[in-house]
Amino acid sequence: MKCHTHFKDVPLLVVSIIASLLPGFTLIKTRNAEALMPASAMPPLNKSEAAVILNKATEPPFSGKYNHQGEPGTYICRQCGMPLYSSADKFDSGCGWPSFDAELPGAVRRLPDADGQRTEIVCASCGGHLGHVFEGEGFTEKNTRHCVNSLSMAFVEKGSEAEKEAFARQQSAA
Ligand SMILES: [Zn+2]
Repeated sequence: MKCHTHFKDVPLLVVSIIASLLPGFTLIKTRNAEALMPASAMPPLNKSEAAVILNKATEPPFSGKYNHQGEPGTYICRQCGMPLYSSADKFDSGCGWPSFDAELPGAVRRLPDADGQRTEIVCASCGGHLGHVFEGEGFTEKNTRHCVNSLSMAFVEKGSEAEKEAFARQQSAA
């Protein structure tokens, strides 16, 4: 992984140096600074995020920042940055956590929960805990509710550089 990242950085560095000699350098430099970020570089998890993502805790209902978020975009894994859910599949279940009736293809893995009853959902890429999935509740036509902790995700706006980077990350991992 490290070797791969290093290799990838070389041409960007060259571009950066050439760019610094051109007019409009500031704009180009900013763009390269983002691109230079290694694919796995999400900010370190804080204590609450680690409790949920690594130790499978559940954030208190109605406390999450994405509970009512409605803007178009993509929800990515807070730990590894892979795209998980589209805002198009988000709905307001009133349950207190962000709810989606579908995941992006291949983004989420289902596991029997340790409680022996529920189905746990984790990021298919890094295994980080997301929440639980329920079926047969009748909320939407798909009859599925991914009940996801806000702390397990980060939101990137539709059409943003961050969204493009997340999908590029997915492509390079495929
Ligand atoms: Zn992940």
